Amino acid sequence: MTPVAAEGDGTEADLAACPECDELHVRRAVRPGERARCTRCGTTLYRRPRRRPDHMLAIVTAALIAFVVANTFPILVLRAQGILSEATLLGSVAALWTEGQEPAAVLVFLTAWLFPLFDLLALFVLLLSVTTGRRPALYAPLLRALQAVRPWGMIEVLMLGVLVSLIKLSRMADVVPGVALWAFIALTVLLAAILSYDLRVLWRPVPHQEAAR
Ligand SMILES: [Zn+2]
Repeated sequence: MTPVAAEGDGTEADLAACPECDELHVRRAVRPGERARCTRCGTTLYRRPRRRPDHMLAIVTAALIAFVVANTFPILVLRAQGILSEATLLGSVAALWTEGQEPAAVLVFLTAWLFPLFDLLALFVLLLSVTTGRRPALYAPLLRALQAVRPWGMIEVLMLGVLVSLIKLSRMADVVPGVALWAFIALTVLLAAILSYDLRVLWRPVPHQEAAR
């Protein structure tokens, strides 16, 4: 933990305001994994993630591949009385809709498909621009949108629901876990690493400046 001093002669861009008490601090370099705390109330001001942006880019790319696989193949295959039926995520959303459960269909579509996909794609673009040193005009709006959408991505909740249904269904029929289920499990693990990445670090994305402090 590195407390940051309130004194210093940095420019406005070098200041960090405490989100709790508004105390202004001059930014100091922190080592990977360390965090800077407010000298008045102890709130975390910023931290330097252990993973570099290029490492995160690799993790996000793997998560996008897992997302595609998870949505292309069936989550599970049901065998009952000789009838075989498969379920994909979007297929289940469509089934909910046609059965008159429109609010539930919309909720599952947004929280388990659209928002997580937006999260991964936006983070991919942001990390790519940080890694290549090119900052597109949409950088700041994209980062703001990502921070707003992130709390609504709930693939972990979906996974829990799928696992509970799998156990319940296995009493009534032969349930074979599909390829997508393993992809969803991989995605949940990768998302744990992605969600622990502090997005605030992307507001100061130029790596060589950060390293020079
Ligand atoms: Zn404070």
